Amino acid sequence: MTATDGLIAKSASVDKVNLLGLSRQQLEDFFLDLGEKRFRAQQVMKWMHHQGVLDFDAMSNLGKGLREKLADIAIIAPPVIAEQQDSSDGTRKWAIRVEGGALVEAVLIPESGRATLCVSSQVGCSLDCKFCSTGKQGFQRDLTAAEIIGQVWLAIDSYAGWQSGKGRVVTNVVMMGMGEPLLNFDNVVAAMDLMTDDLAYGLSKRKVTLSTSGVVPALDRLAEFTDVSLAISLHAPNDELRSRIVPINRRYPIQRLLKSARDYLDAQSDRKRVVTIEYTLMAGVNDQTEHARELCGLLKDYPCKINLIPFNDFPNSGFSRPSGNAVSRFWQILVDAGFIVTVRSTRGDDIDAACGQLVGEVVDRTRRSERYRESYAAGFAASGDERS
Ligand code: SAH
Ligand code: SF4
Repeated sequence: MTATDGLIAKSASVDKVNLLGLSRQQLEDFFLDLGEKRFRAQQVMKWMHHQGVLDFDAMSNLGKGLREKLADIAIIAPPVIAEQQDSSDGTRKWAIRVEGGALVEAVLIPESGRATLCVSSQVGCSLDCKFCSTGKQGFQRDLTAAEIIGQVWLAIDSYAGWQSGKGRVVTNVVMMGMGEPLLNFDNVVAAMDLMTDDLAYGLSKRKVTLSTSGVVPALDRLAEFTDVSLAISLHAPNDELRSRIVPINRRYPIQRLLKSARDYLDAQSDRKRVVTIEYTLMAGVNDQTEHARELCGLLKDYPCKINLIPFNDFPNSGFSRPSGNAVSRFWQILVDAGFIVTVRSTRGDDIDAACGQLVGEVVDRTRRSERYRESYAAGFAASGDERS
C-alpha cells in the first residue's frame, strides 16, 4: 500500500472521516457511536499504524459488514509525498503535499541505533521570529492530526518498514519542522498521543520532543494532555534582545516562559527530566561572551540542557552564522559553568542543494525554512542522554 492509494481514497470521499489522525480514545468513541465494540478501535489502529494498511477490505479480522460500513463513512489517508530526496549521509527528506496543495517537509536522520524524524505542525507560522524563514512565509494553516501523524506513517512506509512491527524505522520524533506546535494544540496533542501509544508507534515519551518558541498559555495546560519531552527556543539571555528576535517574547517574557516550562516538568512523575534550551547562534547578535555569561546566570539552577544551533542561512535573512571559534568560545563558557551543552551539526547538505529545483517556488520557500531543521534535528539525533 502506498501514499498514492491514500490520495485516491481521499479524493473519492470528501466528507468521510480520516481515521489515521484519531487518537485511541477518539477511535473508540467512533466505534461506540457506530454501535460497535470498543476493541474494534484497537484492531483498526494496529492495521493502520503497525501494518501500514489503508484499505478496510484488507482488515481480515473485521467482518465483511463492518468493513463495508467503514468504507462508506471513513477513509485512512496519509498526506502524499510530492518529492523524496536522499542525502549521501543517509538523511532522507520528503516534500509532502497536504490537502489544498500546500507543501510541508519531514526529514528523517538515521544515526547508529536510532532515527529521528523532524515533523511539521503547521503550513507556515504566524510568530515571525526574525531569523526563521518559515516565519517570513507567514501563516497558511494548521495541519490536521492525520497530516501530522501521517508524516510518521509516510516515513515508515517509505522504508517499507511495516514488517518491523511498530515500525522501528522511526525511533525519535522532534516537532521541529514548520510551524509552532502549541498554536495547533489539539491536533498536535492527538498526533503525539499516537506517537507514544503502543497501539500506534509506541515511542517512549522521552523520544518525542515538542519544541516551542513560548506560547505560555498553551504550555501552561500542556501537562494535562501529554508528558513528552520539551524544548524551548530561547535564543537570547535577556528580554530586550529576545523581544527583538522572537516577537512573542513581548507578550510572554523569559521568566514567565521558564516558569511555565518548569511547571510542566514538575507535573511529571519522572524527576530527572530536563527542558532542552535551544539557542540559535547568530553572528554579532547573540553570540558574544557577555551573552554566554548572561545565559549562565539566567539558567543557573534551572533543570535544563542547552543545544547551540549555529544559524543556518537563507537568502535575505539578514543574519549570519558565527565562526567556528565563536561557537566554541560560547560553548566553553557554558560548559565551564557546569551546563550540559551540545552543538548541532549539519546533515543532508547535498540534498538541500538540489531540493529547491525540484517542485517549484512553494517548495523553494519551504526548503529554506527546513534547511536548518535538518541540521537541527540531526543534532538532536546525534545528542546522547535521555533521547537515546
Ligand atoms: N516553532 C517551534 C518549532 C519549530 S522551529 C519553535 O520555534 O521552537 C525549530 C527550531 O529551529 C527552533 O529552535 C527555531 O528557533 C530554530 N530555527 C529557526 N530558524 C533557524 C535558522 N535559520 N537557523 C537555525 N535555527 C533556526
Ligand atoms: Fe514559528 Fe518556530 Fe519559526 Fe518562530 S522559529 S517563526 S515559532 S517556526
